[in-house]
Amino acid sequence: MLENSNKRDPQKIAVREENISLTYSELNELSKRTGSALAGRIAPQSPVGVYMEKGISALVSFFGVVYAGAFYSMFNTELPDERLRSMRSVLDASSIITTQKLYSKAQELFPEAEIFIIEELECAEVSEDVLAAIRRSVIDTDPLYINFTSGSTGIPKGIAVSHRSVIDFIGFFTEIFSIGKDDVLANQAPFDFDVSVKDIYSAMYAGAELVIVPREYFSAPVKLIDYLCDNKITVMIWAVSALCLISAFHGLDYKTPETVSKILFSGEVMPYKHLRQWQQHLPDALFVNLYGPTEITCNCTYHILSRERDYSSGIPVGIPFPNEDVILLSADNERITEKGVKGSIAVRGTALALGYYREPQKTAESFVQNPLNKCYPETIYLTGDLGEYDENGELVFRGRSDNQIKYMGHRIELEEIERAMSAIGGVERCMCIFDEAKQRLKGFYMGTIEKNELITVMRGTMPAFMVPGFIRKVDQMILTKNGKLDRKKTAELIGGGKNA
Ligand code: AMP
Repeated sequence: MLENSNKRDPQKIAVREENISLTYSELNELSKRTGSALAGRIAPQSPVGVYMEKGISALVSFFGVVYAGAFYSMFNTELPDERLRSMRSVLDASSIITTQKLYSKAQELFPEAEIFIIEELECAEVSEDVLAAIRRSVIDTDPLYINFTSGSTGIPKGIAVSHRSVIDFIGFFTEIFSIGKDDVLANQAPFDFDVSVKDIYSAMYAGAELVIVPREYFSAPVKLIDYLCDNKITVMIWAVSALCLISAFHGLDYKTPETVSKILFSGEVMPYKHLRQWQQHLPDALFVNLYGPTEITCNCTYHILSRERDYSSGIPVGIPFPNEDVILLSADNERITEKGVKGSIAVRGTALALGYYREPQKTAESFVQNPLNKCYPETIYLTGDLGEYDENGELVFRGRSDNQIKYMGHRIELEEIERAMSAIGGVERCMCIFDEAKQRLKGFYMGTIEKNELITVMRGTMPAFMVPGFIRKVDQMILTKNGKLDRKKTAELIGGGKNA
């Protein structure tokens, strides 16, 4: 994608980050240099951790890794050290790319890995022959990247996605929403989230301009909106939580980024009042609800909002992308086609991830034989989401069948928080629930540790968004007949949310 866009228009701006920008020719050159420097020093088809802030250097690192025949995984510098170490142990990466600035921190975090510095890699000579030989050996079912997500066992799961899945998805995605070379995409998502895959590869495929919005702008809405206006953004592929951040501050009343013509949102249900604000300020823009988990490469369904339709009772997640079959399964594994019947959402197609990296058991639980196909091996992914068809035959999201939630844009399995909490000395038993009405994580525990101490320990070991904002010590919790925690009854007893 990068090379094609470079061939078509080498002088066009490919990526911009504050006051720095690179043309397609420069981005391609730096990526090739990085790939040439890494070639022979990292094993083909091996994972490489990229430990740095999101930005142009991370992009060059990704493409350099790909040129070297390996695959990348973004290590977000915001995550606590313990989380990064556990990601590295899942990945078993013997190579890490970082910046000059983060070099000693990277050495401390990954003492057994070889650490490369991007500023040095970018200075290497391009070895066209070496890169061409590597290219011949790579096939499209090889992994392109690994994105980590919360895992109920307490260890994050690394979702491995192949080149082929991204090629398949991005081609349709850019075509359906007419993303072209004149577009300017504002990248909101951190690079360890697959929302950013749509920004990066749509821009590269279309030869468009990718504008990276620095992370810190999301805590300064005025600066954020000025940045969108100044950069004449046309496409926003954003998480619902990020769009709501602007509307919650009534940021659009301050200034409206008038050049924006497409807003595609995903990750959770878009609250109606926030949607209305965006629609009122940008009445001519195209609004799209995108749905899907990372395991099926970004999204599997979409719904283009109609200006005339009333969405106050919810926005459907819509219809499948081409070359993807989104199946609603009944409890006895039959395909549901009737309207108004709830079922489990499963997905079939090229866009399915390869599985959870080095986790065969977890992979086998969710990537299963298609129960509708008795003739040959065919994998479907069980999303754990529930859905039903509305009166128009479009799919509507109806919550989860497990304890996975979305909080501040993050996908969290509540059991992961409980595992981490119960591993702390002085915690006997604990429970974490999500109070949907108040949008609040609540933690309850029995034990001897004092609340404040517990919070301090949790903050040191878990990502900030996983530490419950409300924690209470309780005297008892209710167990089921099998000795498991009865989440619902316990929540009723101690006053948690309804979604326990
Ligand atoms: P992630 O893998 O982080 O993208 O999270 C995927 C999960 O987020 C899905 O399985 C759903 O539970 C939820 N989700 C994603 N998109 C939507 C949407 N448009 N509406 C409602 N829930 C969504």
